[in-house]
Amino acid sequence: MAGERILLVEDNSQNRRLAQFLLTAQGYVVYEATTGPEALELARAHLPDLILMDLRLPGLDGYAVTRALKDDERTKQIPVIALTAFAMEGDREKALEAGCDDYITKPIDTRSFPAAVHRFLRRRRAERVEPGDGNSHEDLSGGR
Ligand code: MN
Repeated sequence: MAGERILLVEDNSQNRRLAQFLLTAQGYVVYEATTGPEALELARAHLPDLILMDLRLPGLDGYAVTRALKDDERTKQIPVIALTAFAMEGDREKALEAGCDDYITKPIDTRSFPAAVHRFLRRRRAERVEPGDGNSHEDLSGGR
């Protein structure tokens, strides 16, 4: 949905530019971070609707950033979608262990990427309008 806010965390400028271009073309508001600390700062300042997280960042990496976000009451509900290199299969399991909600494989596919982001945001909206019976949200955060 246009106007939804996405935090894009990616240190590779080519990947970041491509993702930023595809997301803004859909009407999303995009915040960009290139380091872990910057990602934490922007996530806490803007509380975006979705976070796209490169796992391999210099210094504080995407796993550590995700753990910190999922440990923080203010940010733990924000879905974190890992951006993982296609060849790095182990990264996906590690990403889910760190608390990522799902992943998108790189290189970014210009056709499927916008649809995948749309799907994750739609899932997020569906969760938010769910009647609060007290159980559904715990189930969602419990498993991984
Ligand atoms: Mn990287």
